[in-house]
Amino acid sequence: MNAAKLDKLCLWHPFTQMQEWMEPRFEPVVIVEGKGAELIDANGKRYLDGNSSIWTNLHGHRHPVLNAAIKRQLDKLAHSSFLGLTNEVAPALGARLLDVTRLKGRKYRVFFSDDGSTAIEAGLKMIIQARRQRGETQRKNFITLEGGYHGDTVGAMSLGRSGLFHKHFGALMFPTCKVMAPFCYRCPFNRARPCRGADARESRRCKWECLDELRRAMKQRGAGAAAFVAEPLVQGAAGMLMHPHGYLKEAAEICKQHGVWLMLDEVMTGFGRTGAMFAFQRERAIPDVLALAKGLSGGYLPLAATIASAEIFEAFLGNFSEFKTFFHGHSYTGNQLGCAAALANLDIFEAEGTIKTTARKSFLLRRLSKIFWEHPNVGDVRQEGMILAVELVEDFSSKRPFPPAQRLGQQVCDAARVRGLLTRPLGNVLLLMPPYCTTEKQLEKMVAALWDGLNDVLPRPKASALNGARKKQPGAGMAGN
Ligand SMILES: *Cc1c(COP(=O)(O)O)cnc(C)c1O
Repeated sequence: MNAAKLDKLCLWHPFTQMQEWMEPRFEPVVIVEGKGAELIDANGKRYLDGNSSIWTNLHGHRHPVLNAAIKRQLDKLAHSSFLGLTNEVAPALGARLLDVTRLKGRKYRVFFSDDGSTAIEAGLKMIIQARRQRGETQRKNFITLEGGYHGDTVGAMSLGRSGLFHKHFGALMFPTCKVMAPFCYRCPFNRARPCRGADARESRRCKWECLDELRRAMKQRGAGAAAFVAEPLVQGAAGMLMHPHGYLKEAAEICKQHGVWLMLDEVMTGFGRTGAMFAFQRERAIPDVLALAKGLSGGYLPLAATIASAEIFEAFLGNFSEFKTFFHGHSYTGNQLGCAAALANLDIFEAEGTIKTTARKSFLLRRLSKIFWEHPNVGDVRQEGMILAVELVEDFSSKRPFPPAQRLGQQVCDAARVRGLLTRPLGNVLLLMPPYCTTEKQLEKMVAALWDGLNDVLPRPKASALNGARKKQPGAGMAGN
């Protein structure tokens, strides 16, 4: 039996309505090979990996440096326990991570786990236990951003909370104090009219009410708050909500004034995605806890890190009999193959000058993506580094969204797939998050496939009110593969 048949018979996929998956006429794409920004299926069809395999891949598939590093490690040892033992690779990676995050001088500590959710889970437990062991027992709550996403385990769900995903689990989850997300496009305080051609952050007219709300929450709840948890600069799963520059720096300042720790979730934004190695570096905000995963291993292996401040780490020190130990860990903590991949990932950043080359590519992506403004159902086009989000709306001037059940985003991505592009929407937000190795030509193809897919599903009216201006379509007709 081939893989597709076996899969449909035996497996259960994440975030997937399996009834649709099991329908006889549905044929899952079976990915068998990859090279650079391309993935190849069992029929030999080539696709561009338009969302970096769900936001994990950085330098492309089958990168020679990453492949060699893993093979070298594999010939020595795949895995040994990190409980009561150490290994050759994890300490080297810890030191490198403190280096690239520039947290080394501050004596931060690196705790390894397996994926984004576990990195968050470890972080929130460290924070709560540290507060108690410091005698700050009243500081037991979290302040979080509306629409935040931190993973699917119960603690991470509590910090994130989505009405749709979590409606059955309310009884298991702990409450948090939510503050508004600084998302200009749909901000009720933004008095600017929607304006085609510009990211809503640029035309924003407001008094930073989002920061006022955070200040208010801190005044009311700050003494009981253990930490403020946020995805810096871009809230991923909520729909690539991009924050106005300056928000994080000020938010960090507000946290400091109230003695509230700042936990940043850079699971998605980390490792160059937004143009800097880490998003917090662009805002000169210093997190007390930093969660990393997804791109940490270059998108090769499940590996995560929770980096904690000296202040938090020191709250766990004492005689064993005081039982201040962090009693938390996972079987594969410090896994050698994952750590070897992560070290190779950082080597590539240095050897290939990745941050510089992606700056050029994100500039090209910005230029190419202007075409989306010509579609009447595009409400917002926003970009941060190598993340491009195109939000579809039923009505431009009122920003009225399409009904979610219509699944327009999904339809557009299905149409783009036929044209050789793989990407997943976030509701009605279309998404391009190319691997950094994507060539300029491939970038043009990605944009063209998404644009053509959009027009397949939502053809523009012939005598468009937006006439003119669309003589030059980038890479028109190049989408086929
Ligand atoms: C993906 C993601 C997570 C969860 O990571 P997993 O590896 O899927 O558990 C957490 N936070 C952010 C911001 C993410 O994008």
